[in-house]
Amino acid sequence: MRQVVMTKPREIVVEDRADPKIVEPTDAIIRLAATCICGSDLWPYRGVQDVHHQVMGHEYVGVVEEVGREVTTIKVGDFVVGSFWASDNTCEICQAGYQSHCVHRTVMGLIGTQSELARVPLADGTLVATPSQPDNDLIPSLLAASDVLGTGWFAAVAANAGPGKTVAVVGDGAVGLLGILAAKQLGAERIIAFSRHAARQKLAREFGATDIIEERGDEGVAKVYALTDGLGAHSVIEAVGTQEAMMQAIRSARSGGHVGFVGVSHGVNIPGELLFGTGIHLHGGPAPVRQYLPELINLIWDRKIDPGKVFDLTLPLEQAAEGYRAMDERRAIKVLLTV
Ligand SMILES: [Zn+2]
Repeated sequence: MRQVVMTKPREIVVEDRADPKIVEPTDAIIRLAATCICGSDLWPYRGVQDVHHQVMGHEYVGVVEEVGREVTTIKVGDFVVGSFWASDNTCEICQAGYQSHCVHRTVMGLIGTQSELARVPLADGTLVATPSQPDNDLIPSLLAASDVLGTGWFAAVAANAGPGKTVAVVGDGAVGLLGILAAKQLGAERIIAFSRHAARQKLAREFGATDIIEERGDEGVAKVYALTDGLGAHSVIEAVGTQEAMMQAIRSARSGGHVGFVGVSHGVNIPGELLFGTGIHLHGGPAPVRQYLPELINLIWDRKIDPGKVFDLTLPLEQAAEGYRAMDERRAIKVLLTV
């Protein structure tokens, strides 16, 4: 099969690799219907995170080709969506809704899903089958559910978004944009998007943003306060992972408010005195996407949400290198790779 490999920062190749085989009796093998490039793939691409000849990708939808002998709920031929963390969905941590911290978890990025085929561990716990084979136009949205939608959804839940709430969103990548969609679905009254990018501002408004703030730092915080009677936002989503973004998020929240942080943390240090003084709730980390998949698949299936709009560039898997360049240069929000 063909598979995307990052040989070193800024070098993407597509290689012939052995087809995956069932390793554990709880595995499934899927044939990808589509795959994509994640904002988090840019950390190693930019050399911020070590990389040496590594398979890439952790988002996936596709058709089950083979299942191990202990798989009972997923069948050959099912169209499935799974999270970027494989999880058993039965341990105490999973049952509490934290499948991304499952005691048996495996991160799909180590397996790599920017490929024609992929092995999915813990298939019964990880995969959710759609009601039938989806129409082609639903595939981008189902693929978005695998990570960016589920992650944006968790961020909105962690930020306690809901009716009557003002939600501020730091980060205008796919996760931030889908955090806006999630906040809207959860009933938020006002949604403030931080963005300086015209195309992303437009999509933010389509997903439910009511206000856009282009300023950052003190000026950005001041604008949030000006929009919230000097109190700050009830709920803030942090979808970047840098020190600047985390400080923007914490300082934009009102006392007693909630910050949901889902940007993969790189060099973030939160001063204890600041945290102590704010009186906010902080919750986040790798999103338990699996918890939300049945609900998100239903919303997509019933065409109530269209998260696939975040894919603004589609390329064949063989042109993955151009997809990485487009995302690195912010020419594309998110790149879908056809297989
Ligand atoms: Zn578990």
